[in-house]
Amino acid sequence: MKTAELFATKKVLSFEIFPPKRTGSIETIFRTVDALKDLKPDFISVTYGAGGSNSNRATFEIAAAVKNDYGIESVAHLACINLTKEDVLSISKDFKQEGIENILALRGDINPEIEPKNDFKHASDLISFIKENGNFNIIAACYPEGHTESSSIVEDIHNLKTKVDAGADQLITQLFFDNDYFYSFRERAAIAGINVPIQAGIMPVTNKKQIEKMVTLCGVDLPRKFLSIMNRYEHNPIAMRDAGIAYAIDQIVDLIAQGIDGIHLYTMNNPYIALRIYEAIHTLLEA
Ligand code: FAD
Repeated sequence: MKTAELFATKKVLSFEIFPPKRTGSIETIFRTVDALKDLKPDFISVTYGAGGSNSNRATFEIAAAVKNDYGIESVAHLACINLTKEDVLSISKDFKQEGIENILALRGDINPEIEPKNDFKHASDLISFIKENGNFNIIAACYPEGHTESSSIVEDIHNLKTKVDAGADQLITQLFFDNDYFYSFRERAAIAGINVPIQAGIMPVTNKKQIEKMVTLCGVDLPRKFLSIMNRYEHNPIAMRDAGIAYAIDQIVDLIAQGIDGIHLYTMNNPYIALRIYEAIHTLLEA
């Protein structure tokens, strides 16, 4: 099923997982999927290493298993910065063979140590290429606080419109910790004529190191309320975990009340956290 069709009838709940870091340990991810399955997600998406790492084949294998062995709709991420057009055609063929219909089409982060292939400069180039060469549902990334490389929020929205015009059927946001950024972004997107469903990407933060890494990578703002949690519980892992879960639930409750299209939970491969959040929000999604 094409995941964009889900939004017509419900608020969508999806989970993101990533292939295990060490090669040869792909089986460990299936313990996570076993647990996530009980939460009946609308889809599970599987990330992709843009640097051309071994995890790329794992993305395909996990997405295929989620779809065919677990009967859950799957989304395979695909980052184009280090791919040629031939690579994308061959990957799309594999997807088709396994019945994977949904691709989260990305540029990927630029790695200064890897010379990029120059077939695709932006995600929009990948999106139009996939649309021309196959019948896939395309999801694209968006950034409520703007992408770190954009010189302005306005420029970023123009580029997002280009991405949607190229064929993106739905959007998922980068993580954010202040919902007001999301609401302003949603308004700007509507003004720009972007009218595909937008799911909010929510990351429950459970340790301080994780968040410091995210802030450096994504350039997201940390509200005062969030910072006090980090500072108060940084040396108490259980309290930090519980506070991170509570913060994410608080964000999601507000987003649902404000009429969000859907929630995409960055699970960090931790089914316990996904379960705690699911228990708190699933009746709200259905209400
Ligand atoms: P683009 O849409 O190409 O945007 C990159 C920059 O270029 C932006 O500043 C944009 O404003 C600008 N731009 C875009 N189009 C144009 C244009 N036509 N002309 C001029 N400027 C333009 N990374 C991974 O490696 N693997 C993953 O699995 C992965 N999953 C992700 C999932 C989500 C939901 C999100 C939000 C991000 C994910 N990322 C992943 C990170 C992503 O690869 C990086 O944020 C990357 O830096 C940008 O990717 P993009 O697809 O948004 O790029």
